[in-house]
Amino acid sequence: MNNILSSTDFIAAAEADLAEVFHSIEQNEYHIQERVLEAFRVNLVAARHFNPTTGYGYDDDGRDVLDRLFASALQCEAALAVPQLSSGTHAIFMVLSALLRPNDTMLAITGRPYDTLINAIGIEGNAECSLGEMNVDYRQIELDNSGKIDIDALRAELTMHPRVVYLQRSRGYAWRNSLLPQDMASTFKTVKEISPNSIIVVDNCYGEFTQEAEPTAFGADLIVGSLIKNLGGGIAPTGGYVAGRKAYINRIANRITVPGIGREAGSYAAGYLPFYEGLFVAPHVVAQALKTAALFARMFEKLDLPTMPSSDSKRSDIVQALRFNTKDELIGFCKTIQSVSPIDSFVSPEPWAMPGYNDEVIMAAGTFVQGASIELSADAPIREPFTGYLQGGITYGHGRIAAGRVYEMLMGQTH
Ligand SMILES: *Cc1c(COP(=O)(O)O)cnc(C)c1O
Repeated sequence: MNNILSSTDFIAAAEADLAEVFHSIEQNEYHIQERVLEAFRVNLVAARHFNPTTGYGYDDDGRDVLDRLFASALQCEAALAVPQLSSGTHAIFMVLSALLRPNDTMLAITGRPYDTLINAIGIEGNAECSLGEMNVDYRQIELDNSGKIDIDALRAELTMHPRVVYLQRSRGYAWRNSLLPQDMASTFKTVKEISPNSIIVVDNCYGEFTQEAEPTAFGADLIVGSLIKNLGGGIAPTGGYVAGRKAYINRIANRITVPGIGREAGSYAAGYLPFYEGLFVAPHVVAQALKTAALFARMFEKLDLPTMPSSDSKRSDIVQALRFNTKDELIGFCKTIQSVSPIDSFVSPEPWAMPGYNDEVIMAAGTFVQGASIELSADAPIREPFTGYLQGGITYGHGRIAAGRVYEMLMGQTH
């Protein structure tokens, strides 16, 4: 390029290209905001529901109404929104270990599950208390070359009647597309036709509120995820959720606490306010993250660098995969994201050997809530092709500052 634009002009041009994309993100936000507001109204949420509770937490209205609020907002029969769950992985493992009994089969139909689940399921090794150690059989079907579910392989596997059929909605940290809930419908139909008693569980992490309806609206039995991602709205300090069919939710409640006690017990001494407020702002915050992702996508398209998904594609998660020409650019990208973070802007992330990864990994996360990836953050394994994953952004204003700085980094413009 002989005529390099300033970052201000470049970002303005990218935004002009995105007018329609932003409009459709906003339409989705407005639609979901209405549904979430209605959920608050029908559940008669009041200030007393925020009150802290202690000990057993018997008759904890704040806990019970929060569960019902999540069920309404997600259009499900029942839900559990649980501050005591420390992560999405914890929530997913809790669900799987509640549903799967010895000699049952778990069938993953979107390829290898998210990294943190590998030990928990027992796909590699048999960690203590893993599903594998409990004699749960694990089977896996890869996505086909176009990133779609392999229906022929699925039909064959279903004749063995797996107890759980498991899908991951988000791309996670793979160069593939996220699965749209509406596109899952035919798969769900096939599952229920061939194996009606199989329970369909969707790892819904990063996907919530990116589309008008969740996978449960199209036939999934359960959706599961983290509250320091989309549904926490950047405000919830911790937690996980599961939503779907009531019979399964009751069973899972017995796993969260104790069989026979279920959701009767459980207190939260810090109070429930951030979970209520987080869900209320989540439609807006998810829209901010989607706009940030679309802006980075458009920037890469304009610079002729590979990116996924394209800026105008329908998104089913908040992750943007970005391919850089060199290792230095990839590392520079993560350092730049960190340097424009509100927290720990003064530290410089370095590639690091992480347990469970074969390559070094570099992460940028200058977040208010530790590790919250609904806040602007980036991760990258250091290997070819040099791919970074960007997600989050609780304000689009922050996302566009970050995009401008990354552009300047790529153009060799010092700030
Ligand atoms: C974040 C995430 C998880 C769970 O990860 P935690 O870090 O334990 O919250 C699982 N699956 C996907 C696709 C995710 O994005």
